[in-house]
Amino acid sequence: MTGVTLKVPLITEIQRFSLQDGPGFRTTVFLKGCPLKCPWCHNPETQRPAQEYYYNQARCVSCGRCTAVCPTGGSTMVPGPGKGMMLQLDRSKCINCMRCVAVCLTEGRESVGQTMSLEDILQEVLSDEPFYRNSGGGVTISGGDPLFYPEFTLELAKRIKLRKVHIALETSCFPKNWKTIEPLLELVDLFIVDLKSMNPQKHEDVIGWPLKPILDNFEHLIASQAKLRVHIPVVPGFNDSPEDFENYITYLKQYADRLEGVDILNYHVYGEGKYISLGREKEYQYKGVEENPPEKVLPLARGLKLAGIGSVTIGGLVGITTSREERGRDVGMRCVA
Ligand code: SF4
Ligand code: SF4
Repeated sequence: MTGVTLKVPLITEIQRFSLQDGPGFRTTVFLKGCPLKCPWCHNPETQRPAQEYYYNQARCVSCGRCTAVCPTGGSTMVPGPGKGMMLQLDRSKCINCMRCVAVCLTEGRESVGQTMSLEDILQEVLSDEPFYRNSGGGVTISGGDPLFYPEFTLELAKRIKLRKVHIALETSCFPKNWKTIEPLLELVDLFIVDLKSMNPQKHEDVIGWPLKPILDNFEHLIASQAKLRVHIPVVPGFNDSPEDFENYITYLKQYADRLEGVDILNYHVYGEGKYISLGREKEYQYKGVEENPPEKVLPLARGLKLAGIGSVTIGGLVGITTSREERGRDVGMRCVA
């Protein structure tokens, strides 16, 4: 890019040796920011674009160091239940200056969202190049949603591709303009698209985003011969009814021979602790909601298989290169329908 300052998003994590985000060993870059509002999101720290902090209560020793540097009253010491003092947080007063994180000696505070330059990100993601070559892996750009930062994602993909490294992109395909995605076609080797519901009303009401642009983009990707893998997060009470399953099967059947595969990802409760640490526990609507047993999604897996989709997993890929040409060797799935 010349003459334009590239907006580089905050990075919540760069995860190396990942086996879940595409074929082979991967390094996954998680960008912070997403326009969708999935209430079950198990990575809530990637939803908001701005920096936040985790408060790890179990590590806090109520020393008060953070309150001494807090400029806004976002952290104060108040009398505790016994004779001592205890920490009280008021996130509504927080300006995310992260001074509290800098002075905490016990990791009671942790900043969420790291500022990195494009060069720093590239250096880190390309440091495992030999592993990518040996395993058929590469770099996965994830989030949040990478398409929330289309210019940055395009530039990152261009720079990675200069090294001929495989690129996967995890997205909900939310943009309302196909032109946001189109330039990525020649750079991205595998699009991993989340389809959260096939019901337009439910999609809009619960997730806060229309389904139509998502399906339009998905169909553009199909028409463009892009390699595509679909992720279906199955969430109790949201999209786990027989009708929901049937809708997925009917829709995806049309594209069965165009898909690399479908991964059914059962909702899990691991995200709950993150909502608490972020001070957002009131937002979390799934408290006490039990995970579905794997058998619950078997009808969906079987239906997709019968619809002609060659690779259907429950739980996602675990590090085996898989492509339509290699379906005969489609092993290494946690569960293959
Ligand atoms: S500095 Fe860390 S340990 Fe001390 S009160 Fe603050 S969060 Fe707790
Ligand atoms: S990040 Fe928030 S709580 Fe921490 S010192 Fe700054 S204003 Fe206070």
